[in-house]
Amino acid sequence: MHDAADPFLLPLEGYVVRRVPAVRADKPYTCPACGNPIGAGEGHVVAWPEEEVELRRHWHHHCWRIAARRGRIA
Ligand SMILES: [Zn+2]
Repeated sequence: MHDAADPFLLPLEGYVVRRVPAVRADKPYTCPACGNPIGAGEGHVVAWPEEEVELRRHWHHHCWRIAARRGRIA
């Protein structure tokens, strides 16, 4: 995992945001924003508060975009 900014991801202050490409999406998750599943093999976004990687959550790309534009995730 590298730390270069990803131009496809909207940043959110205080959070680390990374893309999970389809080839690395090896198990299903539930998106915290919409409550719908993110299937294995579906590229998505993972984000966590800086210094709190155990709080990382997996998001749909569009759900993350909405949250980041809003400026908060809850
Ligand atoms: Zn979602």
